[in-house]
Amino acid sequence: MQLNVLVLPGDGIGPEVTAEAVRVLKHVAARWGHNLRLTEGLLGGVAIHQTGSPFPEETAARALEADATLLGAVGLPEFDSAPPAQRPERGLLGIRKTLGVYANLRPVRAYKALLDSSPLKNDIVDGTDLIIVRELTGGIYYGTPRGISGSGPEERGVNTEVYTRAEIERVARVAFELARRRRKKLTSVDKSNVLETSQLWRRVVSELAAEYPDVTLEHILVDNCAMQLILNPRRFDVLVMPNLFGDILSDEGAVLAGSIGMLPSASIGDRRPSGAWVGLYEPVHGSAPDIAGQGKANPLAAIGSVAAMLEYSFGLTEEAGAVNRAIEAVLESGRVTADLKPRGRPATTVEVGQAVVDAIDSKS
Ligand code: NAD
Repeated sequence: MQLNVLVLPGDGIGPEVTAEAVRVLKHVAARWGHNLRLTEGLLGGVAIHQTGSPFPEETAARALEADATLLGAVGLPEFDSAPPAQRPERGLLGIRKTLGVYANLRPVRAYKALLDSSPLKNDIVDGTDLIIVRELTGGIYYGTPRGISGSGPEERGVNTEVYTRAEIERVARVAFELARRRRKKLTSVDKSNVLETSQLWRRVVSELAAEYPDVTLEHILVDNCAMQLILNPRRFDVLVMPNLFGDILSDEGAVLAGSIGMLPSASIGDRRPSGAWVGLYEPVHGSAPDIAGQGKANPLAAIGSVAAMLEYSFGLTEEAGAVNRAIEAVLESGRVTADLKPRGRPATTVEVGQAVVDAIDSKS
């Protein structure tokens, strides 16, 4: 398969963790006989330094040509007091908008070796393997009217939740198709007992279910979902939800996995003519300036983002599974970075990347 991938290392630990993710991606491509075309671009603080813009036009053009984009992290302390438009983080909004990614995917896997890092009891977290699909470009974060007006006791704040049928359908399709490739169970999250937008959401998702007879659909109210995620996370496979609910529940999901250095994410848009889903893949963590350049950064979230790319953008489930199993093997070996309770001397970023490559060979 032809894999056209743009790499945006960004700032801080971004270049260190993406270097290891790329090492793994190259190894997978060579081992399974895929033709990997890698390009690199500037985003964030490094882009401001070299071009004056956090999101140069050249980067936008390259992202539109690529099937998938792998991003490290952006943000440098020297820009902390800069106005929003001149901050590295503005580059993130730019690339998301350019790619038109409307579905944010947060896979949450409870690795056995990290069960003790979760604040929940081991027997609750063990076996958790779910994906939260959050609608990313609509809902209450974008609806109008919005604003604060008036004064005194009459001063009022207004936000508006709006969803169109088309917006609900496209994100629900991503979720149905993911479920189809996994355990074939989709949970749609809403607040349809109170909100009209949620009533439309529930109706549209239910209608779409007729096109996916192999997927079992259930609906759950968001308040119950918040409870079930920590009472019985194993019951979930794929969850789909509006922007606001996804923002909150994806952080709750993150707690299940144990460490911020372990969390990958994917943002998905429409399909390219090749069949690949346009996708932006990045670790959930930031640029961690406190440990940048010291070889201490945990690259497993970035490497997990490569697994997500292989699975979601390219449909390469065998390769993605091999990367995920290799991550698990490295965690079990205890040769991990300082943030994950290593056995003995903490491993460096490069050593962890190489260990994943070695584990792909020994486990596949
Ligand atoms: P952060 O995620 O960068 O760091 C929080 C803490 O977690 C730090 O102590 C850091 O050392 C640790 N950490 C993070 N990733 C790690 C890893 N892979 N391995 C080991 N330890 C890790 O969050 P922050 O400190 O709030 O933000 C730093 C900068 O990153 C800011 O400029 C912020 O705006 C930016 N940021 C960017 C993104 C992104 O690029 N998507 C996301 C969040 C924050």
